[in-house]
Amino acid sequence: MSPEEAAAEAGLDLRQLAAASAELEKMPATAAIEWARDQFGDELVLASSFQDCVLIDLAMQVDPSIEVVFLDTQYHFAETLWYVEQVRKRYDLNLRIVRPQVEPDDRWLDDPDGCCGARKVVPLAQALSGKQAWMTGLRRSEASTRRHTAIVAFDVGRGLVKVNPLATWTDQDVAGYVTARGLPEHPLRELGYESIGCWPCTRPVQPGDDPRSGRWAGLDKLECGLHGDEASPASDSNPLASFAEDHSDSLF
Ligand code: SF4
Repeated sequence: MSPEEAAAEAGLDLRQLAAASAELEKMPATAAIEWARDQFGDELVLASSFQDCVLIDLAMQVDPSIEVVFLDTQYHFAETLWYVEQVRKRYDLNLRIVRPQVEPDDRWLDDPDGCCGARKVVPLAQALSGKQAWMTGLRRSEASTRRHTAIVAFDVGRGLVKVNPLATWTDQDVAGYVTARGLPEHPLRELGYESIGCWPCTRPVQPGDDPRSGRWAGLDKLECGLHGDEASPASDSNPLASFAEDHSDSLF
């Protein structure tokens, strides 16, 4: 099934999504959040890895009732769980913690794709069940695999709209916002963890290294399957001219 056919089946018009994305490209991140909230109301979910709380801080300014989802894989650092609680209390978050339907095991040792599937992909599907859209903190500058991230995309596999309000933000934009807003930082940041996922699959990196090189280090694995097939407006002057199949890397 083509992206256009999948969108039509979900009652969506890719042409309209592309136009909205192009318009929001020129506007502040809060405009994308407002657009998503206005379009989807309670059927919008913000999925956060809690590596930082920039997107949450922006979203709470727009609507403090937006549901925030955290996937507790059972393999997060203790510092991440602590940080989740600090952020939850700071914003009185409408937080939903989703856990996998499997017991802790060592699957990550020899089957990381299967492990991510059971601990991330399946729980996210559960969290998004019955929703129309989800919002993430994906940024183009994070990795080459994210360079085509659109502000508004169609999540082909899930039949949902995916909104990435921070798509155009650089690392400097994030750092500046954190400072300006006095946001709490994940405690592992100061220890060299630039991209923070599960402890078995996350290593600190050296200054100047690819921030995501500490994820699944030594393995031929760049994503965990949360950010699969997407139809997003290509970087073309005519956003409707084509739709890129964006196999983006994961933020989790
Ligand atoms: S990041 Fe590692 S531990 Fe976490 S779900 Fe994926 S393979 Fe499992």
